[in-house]
Amino acid sequence: MSVVYERVALIGLGLIASSMAHAMKQWGLAGSIAGHAKTEETRKTALEIGFCDEVFATAAEAAKDADLVVLAVPVGAMGAVAAEISPHLKPGATVTDVGSVKQAVVEAVAPHIPEGVHFIPGHPLAGTEHSGPRSGFATLFQNRWCLLVPTDGVPAEATARLRALWEGMGANVDEMDASHHDLVLAVTSHTPHLIAYTMVGVADHLRRVTESEIIKYSAAGFRDFTRIAASDPTMWRDVFLTNKEATLDILGRFTEELFMLQRAIRMGDGDFLFDYFTRTRAIRRGIIEAGQDTAAPDFGRVKAAK
Ligand code: NAP
Repeated sequence: MSVVYERVALIGLGLIASSMAHAMKQWGLAGSIAGHAKTEETRKTALEIGFCDEVFATAAEAAKDADLVVLAVPVGAMGAVAAEISPHLKPGATVTDVGSVKQAVVEAVAPHIPEGVHFIPGHPLAGTEHSGPRSGFATLFQNRWCLLVPTDGVPAEATARLRALWEGMGANVDEMDASHHDLVLAVTSHTPHLIAYTMVGVADHLRRVTESEIIKYSAAGFRDFTRIAASDPTMWRDVFLTNKEATLDILGRFTEELFMLQRAIRMGDGDFLFDYFTRTRAIRRGIIEAGQDTAAPDFGRVKAAK
């Protein structure tokens, strides 16, 4: 593949940024990659692993001269980073982000984008429960969606170029507006995370009663909640603080459904439960048919050889 951006600056060097850097290097999509992270330890790690060509102690130095600046910090830190880099952005450059929430990022970042710089917020729908510069890998975005939310007045060529970068990293790209994005993600990601956190929290309280049984018999379903509930606390705190409206809306609907199921169990309404679970099973089939998960038993977990 050919170079899409001559110089890319990554602000934040955790799971998403390091995966982007590995992918850009593997498929030759960037001429050079500059990076900045808050701590010296992360900056050193990025150089040691080699996914950045240069690292800088400030975001401003990293962003200077870049053709593409990627904000890959927690959502709550985006505004301050944008304010810092703003006077140093090159005319004609593109600024994007990878934040899990879009309306709050647009509100925090857009006021700092100077005339002549293109701001195209984005969100790759890919991740793991691991974080930090050592957790990234080049294939994270393969066959995953990346949603772009171009802001008013951004030239079509700038969006097409960013799209080419994501496609080069293996992603499928779609465009949508910020509020629609936040509602869709509240259903598909944010509320499910909240429910997983709650279920693991319930088990944590029960632990005192049941001792180690929760861990021992966790394969019965609880284990899959714990994977989601192990996600980065800073990132998820920021998601709920910034996607408040949509999450509360979906959580309200969730609570209503839960009460319906609770009532069906109390009344012994087996038909209701059976029909409900039949509909939910069809959704799982749709996800597999769309290539978004494996149909292998137990989520394709490979059993350790005996
Ligand atoms: P991560 O692995 O925890 O990395 C975050 C990085 O941001 C770290 O390098 C951290 O530096 C840096 N950072 C934090 N505050 C900063 C600041 N004020 N200035 C400069 N650097 C700062 O996080 P991630 O999972 O890559 O997430 C990054 C973004 O992607 C978030 O907005 C998140 O919502 C979004 N996202 C995450 C996922 C996912 O599943 N993880 C998926 C899609 C999108 P230090 O290491 O030095 O502290």
